[in-house]
Amino acid sequence: MSEQKSWLPLESTAHRVAVEVLVHGPLPRSEIARRLDLSPATLSRVTKPLLDAGLLIETGPQAQNGLGRPSLPLDVDPSSQHFVGVKLTADEVHGVLTDLRAHVLATEVAPLADRRPAAVAAVIAQIVHRLSGLVPRLTSVGVSAGGIVDDAATLKDSAYLGWEGTVPLADLVGDQTGLPVVVVNDVEAWTEAERWFGDGRGVQSFALLTTGVGTGYSVVTHGQPTTSRDVGVGVAGHIPLDPWGPLCRAGHRGCAEAMLTSGSVCAAVGVGLGRVVTYAEALGLARDGDPVARTVVEAAARAYGRLLALIANLTFVELIIASGDGVDLALDWEPVVRAEFRAHRHPLASDVTLLIKRAPFTEWARGAAVVAIMTHVMGQ
Ligand SMILES: [Zn+2]
Repeated sequence: MSEQKSWLPLESTAHRVAVEVLVHGPLPRSEIARRLDLSPATLSRVTKPLLDAGLLIETGPQAQNGLGRPSLPLDVDPSSQHFVGVKLTADEVHGVLTDLRAHVLATEVAPLADRRPAAVAAVIAQIVHRLSGLVPRLTSVGVSAGGIVDDAATLKDSAYLGWEGTVPLADLVGDQTGLPVVVVNDVEAWTEAERWFGDGRGVQSFALLTTGVGTGYSVVTHGQPTTSRDVGVGVAGHIPLDPWGPLCRAGHRGCAEAMLTSGSVCAAVGVGLGRVVTYAEALGLARDGDPVARTVVEAAARAYGRLLALIANLTFVELIIASGDGVDLALDWEPVVRAEFRAHRHPLASDVTLLIKRAPFTEWARGAAVVAIMTHVMGQ
């Protein structure tokens, strides 16, 4: 059975090689040498112990290097290690089992009837237990949630879970699972998933915007995430977008929360129609031309485009990934979103790629698994 492969401590050049292959592999040796500016001799020296330890493997079709000696690309064995990622919402726990490259192998979901910390930890432990039964062993667990995370271990004032004060979530889950546990803000976790294994791979600067129950925002510059506990506060949610918009809970008129969250869209459509509507129903009515829903949703789409332009104008990113469980609004009205984006960009400004994409809800949990992988590989 596979032993736990230890990524740390590795000599720094060997570590760089191993991480490069994990994120971008399989890679020919010549490509690794070029990417990391290493001589062939240095690369040979550092890869031999990695191959001997089984951390790297030779794989793929043999390429002849002209001298008749076969050169095999280097790769990791993704199935050598497994991780569980968990995302907490107000009423459910979503879990995914992944391999070392964050491929999702299985998913689990469980209701959250009792939101007290010990009860939540028990549900997480049940999900970890069920997923762990599918593989020889788990390396570690990542847990993500909306809110402020400190020291990759505690969750503070999580509004979704109704928690006040600081909850030592990593210790609670670790005690019940016996595994290393890392806690991470959910938006930061998704950002890391995009940076290492997603659409942000190899992109030096990009932003992630999520809309749905709340609004989430995070930014990567020079290939590194801007880590701030304020990501967990959701500060982008109160950026003003429309002077005629509805009110948010903080009393702002037309801020991002008031314009873009699914609850705000439902409330505004519900006021006009005089009845309660779901988010999917509100979007459907808008598509069908209902005058109330269309007015609300089209205004939201314009606000969405303005927010994207604001992000591009102030952070100089090359790419904005826009997603989240409320992203159907932007997809339904994508021409409106893009027109508003263009209208608020300088004519000489660089092109920014807008990637507005639907993602399964488990993407949040996969992000937590990616942070567990990164913590295992990089330390902290
Ligand atoms: Zn607000």
